[in-house]
Order: sequence, then C-alpha cells, then structure tokens
Amino acid sequence: MVPRGAELAPSSWDRRDPLGEEQLEAAPFLVHRYPDRALLLATDRCASYCRFCTRKRWVGQGPSPTPTDLDAALAYLAAHHEIREVIVSGGDALVLADDKLAALLAQLRAVGRLDVVRLATRMLAFAPTRVTAALLGVLRAHLDVAGAPALYLLSHFNHPRELSAEARAAIAALVDAGVPVLNQTVLLRGVNDDRAVLIELFRALTRLRARPYYLHQCDLAPGTEAFRVPIADAQALYGSLRGELSGLSIPTFVVDVPGGLGKVAMGPSALVGEDDDAVVLRGSRGQAARYPKR
Ligand code: SF4
Repeated sequence: MVPRGAELAPSSWDRRDPLGEEQLEAAPFLVHRYPDRALLLATDRCASYCRFCTRKRWVGQGPSPTPTDLDAALAYLAAHHEIREVIVSGGDALVLADDKLAALLAQLRAVGRLDVVRLATRMLAFAPTRVTAALLGVLRAHLDVAGAPALYLLSHFNHPRELSAEARAAIAALVDAGVPVLNQTVLLRGVNDDRAVLIELFRALTRLRARPYYLHQCDLAPGTEAFRVPIADAQALYGSLRGELSGLSIPTFVVDVPGGLGKVAMGPSALVGEDDDAVVLRGSRGQAARYPKR
C-alpha cells in the first residue's frame, strides 16, 4: 500500500490498462471478455488502494458509475442471454452500502437467468468488520428468493498476516450464511514470493473454508515492475507447492495475457516428452513415467 520511489521508473512493459478492459467495455462499467461471464465495475472506491492494482488508472480516481450507468449495464445483461455469471467488482463490491447492494442484487435477480453472482472484495483483509449482521441479512435475503443466483464472495488475501482474528470471523460468518468464499492472491516480489509463506496462507485459508482459487502473476500496471516475480521463478515457486499442498489448497497460477486476451494457467507443465506410444509425465515429486497415448 505504501508508495515507493521505484514506481516512478516505469518499465517499457507497463500498460495503463493491462487487461484491455476499456476496449471490452460493452456497456458503461461492464466488461464482457468471456462469453458466459461479465464484470460489473460497480464502484471505483476500494477498501484498499494497492500499489499493484491492475485498475489503478481508475480505482480511487473515478468517475464512479451513476445509477443511469448501472441501469444501462443491467439492460445489457438482460439482453445478452449467453451471460450466466456476473462478477461485481470495482474497486470493492462491499464498499456499496447495504441498501445499494440489496438493490443491485435485486436487479441481478431480475435478469432471470444468472447462475452465479460473485462479489469481489478486499474488505475481509482491510475492514472485516464490514461483515455485519445487517450485511449478512442482505445476503441471506437474496439467497432466500426462489431462483436467485448463487452468491460467491471473492476475497483477496496475499499474506497469512492479513488473516487477523476479525478476518477469520468474517470468513466464518459468510460461509455459515451460505456464501462460499474463494480467495485470490497476487504474487508479489518481496511480500509473498516465498514457499513457506504461500503454504501457510493457503493452508490457513482452506482451514477457514476460503478456497484458494487463483494465484495471480502481477499484471503490467504502471510502476509495478518491482512487484513482479520473474515468470520462470514464479513457475518454479508454484511447482514447488504441488505435491506439498492438496488439490483443495492449491490455487491455479494464472497470468492475464496482456491486451485483454484472458487468463491462462501457467503452472509448470507435467508433460516432459513423448514417443509413438506414450507421453512422458513428471510427477509432483520430480520423477517421470510414461503414460499410454491410447
Ligand atoms: S483490492 Fe483490488 S481493486 Fe482494490 S486497489 Fe487492490 S487490486 Fe485494486
């Protein structure tokens, strides 16, 4: 969160809009990159202002969506029948006041065909007391409506030290209320690019019923080169987690391909060779074996 002088020396790889979201904005504040999902940027405000934020061009700076903008985004969702899932993000979905969040959930229910709404938030780390009885009431009231889309909460923890007692209580309250928690972690040089730290984080999250979902390579946002772990080092670090962590505890390591080309899994490949009859696969402990092609 603390600005550093290194940010003032941009890399030639930096991009103002690393994920090409502006060119994929199908309606105001609505990014439609993948056929069945859409990203609703419901507020530019955030619980945290991460120096590595992929949307630092906008987050905390505005403009904020107006009710008219949100109505236009909702109209697009209603008209595009291929969309089954909406990720409400920003900024931070839980910056929205309870009444605004309840109204937005009602509008999303009214779309009529959504399977899932994901709420992306950094609040569980930065302001876990946001998870109040009133907020849980809003979420439960949504889930009580017949046919309502399932709710998932997308949290953002990068280090086990962010898992305060309050954060742990907030995760438990959400899961107990019927809202599964999935966690995203950004791999950050000098912060969490350490095998023991990541293992501790992912084990603790799993124990708390917050499923480690994605480990992100840091995007090419301006001034973030100092945070980026060289990709080969990141793959080796991720590879060292396999075999140590169960499938439940290990997130998928992803890189968002610059220019809006989408996420790709970047774990080290298990495929290390092949011949006419078999592929050669390397197991999690490093030994290789042949597996028949047919
Ligand atoms: S929590 Fe997410 S949206 Fe908010 S500043 Fe950090 S990276 Fe950006």
